[in-house]
Amino acid sequence: MVRQSARKAAQAKSTAVESKTRVAKELKEVVSASSGKVSSTKTTVVAESKIEVTKRTVSKRKSVTTEPELDGENPENLGPAEDKEIETKKPAAKKRKTASKKDENAMPLAARTAISSLKRAMYIGAHVSGAGGVQNAIQNASHIGANAFALFLKSQRKWASPPLADDAKTQFHALLKQHSYESRKHILPHGSYLVNLAQADAAKATQAFDNFLDDLQRCEALGIRLYNFHPGSTGGEPMAAACARIAAQLNKAHKATSSVVTLLENMCGSGNVVGSRFEELRDIIALVDDKARVGVCIDTCHAFAAGYDLRTPEAFDKTMAEFDSVVGIKYLRAFHLNDSKAPFGSHRDLHANIGTGCLGLRAFHNIMNHEPLQGLPMVLETPIDEKGPDGKMVENKQVWADEIKLLESLIGMDAESAEFTEIAEKLQAKGASERQKIQEQVDKKAEKDAKKGTKGKGKGKKKKKDEDSCDSCAESD
Ligand SMILES: [Zn+2]
Ligand SMILES: [Zn+2]
Repeated sequence: MVRQSARKAAQAKSTAVESKTRVAKELKEVVSASSGKVSSTKTTVVAESKIEVTKRTVSKRKSVTTEPELDGENPENLGPAEDKEIETKKPAAKKRKTASKKDENAMPLAARTAISSLKRAMYIGAHVSGAGGVQNAIQNASHIGANAFALFLKSQRKWASPPLADDAKTQFHALLKQHSYESRKHILPHGSYLVNLAQADAAKATQAFDNFLDDLQRCEALGIRLYNFHPGSTGGEPMAAACARIAAQLNKAHKATSSVVTLLENMCGSGNVVGSRFEELRDIIALVDDKARVGVCIDTCHAFAAGYDLRTPEAFDKTMAEFDSVVGIKYLRAFHLNDSKAPFGSHRDLHANIGTGCLGLRAFHNIMNHEPLQGLPMVLETPIDEKGPDGKMVENKQVWADEIKLLESLIGMDAESAEFTEIAEKLQAKGASERQKIQEQVDKKAEKDAKKGTKGKGKGKKKKKDEDSCDSCAESD
């Protein structure tokens, strides 16, 4: 329900396709202009990609609008869309898919940047769809010029899924080779939203564990090393006990597998969700027997909403230092790159496009230029839905292709330069009305909470969902 209203709001917000296209075009100009100036050392791959992007955008946009309607404000919510494609629109989607697959292979929205051409080895990508088989995620990633990517290994909102097909596995390995992705380093599957490893009820805990273990086994079959998941929900019980249950489940899962490293995603601190404080992540890790099999994926939107600032170089350094002293920097294995529509410390999880949210472009400049983060997979989960000519929301993957290039262009860019300021201001202006809208909601809620004499975390309201799910992203969208 909340998701629906978010969607309605998004629909109301988007006025006309023309204006959206214009904004996208402006962003592309900004990105092209910036990446052009950033570095003359970039390889021809980058230069070619710009030409490709410019040449191909028009025809690609046409085909994008004919794809099935996809749901979700952020890629944390890509799931239902994938489900929808699989469950309800199979015949139509399949037919289109064959055509669009060929299309996608022939015409990437952006070519992948050669990492060696970047001043720092930043592997940037997005959470792409694996609908129709996990192997499709590889082409979807390559299509947007991603050097890293996330995917769901099975339907993330259903308990029962068919086993990984041999054919899908074979194709996955073949395509990995063809597209030169390092499955052990730069692919970061996202866990199911149903799984709550902190579940206290024995039967439900077993169900959660079985689903979790199944995902880890899929990772190992596919040669994937890193696996990201939401730590869980206390269900209203004490935090320490919830952390202990999560660690115990991880220990069991590690023993039943051989190599996959389980990454706890930091959360935004809504309701009973575990993992919004670095201390909670530390407490889970402390109880994990095999420390080589556990780590953390920082979601920038979640961190900011939970009260960890990243906006200025000083704030960013302070947050990183705090992470290092509380958790330990060696556990930091991946990033989710999302701006935040909601203000600092608001405990709301609303992903915004890079530079348009309350974090702003400077936060991402800080990340892109932080030496120790080199080599980690960095995954966009930013919104890409736009209103199509028929009024339905459709995905525009060009947004991710452009955001990847934008982030890459920040590497080595002078943040005090007129060039940076111009891009940052343009993106801030683009997100102004959305930020204001959310700010008003947050203010209203604070007022209401103050009147009620409660302290604003909505525990009562969220309790039911927390019992079933640790999905704070879906909660707030
Ligand atoms: Zn997540
Ligand atoms: Zn995330």
